[in-house]
Amino acid sequence: MNDLIQQTAKYLVAARHVVALTGAGISVESGIPPFRGEGGLWEKYDPMEFAHINSFMKNPEKVWKIFMGDMKKVLLAAKPNDAHLGLARLEQLGILKTVITQNVDGLHQMAGNTDVIEFHGNFAWLRCLQCDKRFKTVEVDLSEAPPKCTCGGIFRPECVFFGEMIPPIALTRSQEESSQCDVMLVVGTSALVQPAAFMPVLAQQSGATVIEINPEPTPLTGRISKFLVAGKAGQIMNEILSEVNSLIQSQKQ
Ligand SMILES: [Zn+2]
Repeated sequence: MNDLIQQTAKYLVAARHVVALTGAGISVESGIPPFRGEGGLWEKYDPMEFAHINSFMKNPEKVWKIFMGDMKKVLLAAKPNDAHLGLARLEQLGILKTVITQNVDGLHQMAGNTDVIEFHGNFAWLRCLQCDKRFKTVEVDLSEAPPKCTCGGIFRPECVFFGEMIPPIALTRSQEESSQCDVMLVVGTSALVQPAAFMPVLAQQSGATVIEINPEPTPLTGRISKFLVAGKAGQIMNEILSEVNSLIQSQKQ
C-alpha cells in the first residue's frame, strides 16, 4: 500500500469539512479531451471565434455546428469514471461536502455529488434566449443548428463563454468553501487558470491540508499542497476509498 494513499485516507477520515477542486484531468478517463493543450478543441478551433459570447450572439448557428459536430457525441455519451464515483462515495460517507469544478461536462452530478460549484457552467442544460426556460440537453432535439425552443427562441448552453463573467454565486461560494475546509483534494488540475488557481492558496492560507491527485507535479506541488499522489485519478481514488473504508470499519470495532 502506497504510504501517500494511507496518509490521504487518514486526513479524509479525520477531517471535518472536505472540499474537492477538479479540472479537465478528472474527465480525461471518461473520454473527454481537455479544451486546452494537445488534442484539445482549442487547437482545432480559435476560441475567440467559436467560444466568445459575441461570436455566439452574432452567429449562433456557426457555434452550434461545432458543438454538434465535435462535442455532442463526446459530452452526451460520457459517463462518470472511478474518480467521479469516488468523490460521490466520499460525499455519501459524510466526508466530502462540496465539489468545485472547472469542467462543463456535468459528470460530478451524474456520479451523485449533490453540491457542485461550476465556475464555467455546463453543457448538461440549455436555456432559451427568448423565454429563459431551461431544458436538459439530452432531451432537446439537436439535429438542427441552432436548436430552438417550443417558443421559437434559440437555445444557448448554460456554459460560461469567453467574454462572460464567472457566475458571482459560484465565485463567492467557492471562496467560502475554500476558506472553511480543513482538507482540500485537488484532482486533475494544475490550477493555473483563475479563479480556480486561487482556491488551493486560500485553503492552505486558512489552515487546510491541500492534497493533490495529478499525473505529474504542478506549480502547487511542494508549495501549496502538502503532497502529490501521482498517477491516474480513477485508480488512485479507488485505492483511497478502500483505505477510507477499512479505517471506518476499524473505528467501529
Ligand atoms: Zn423559449
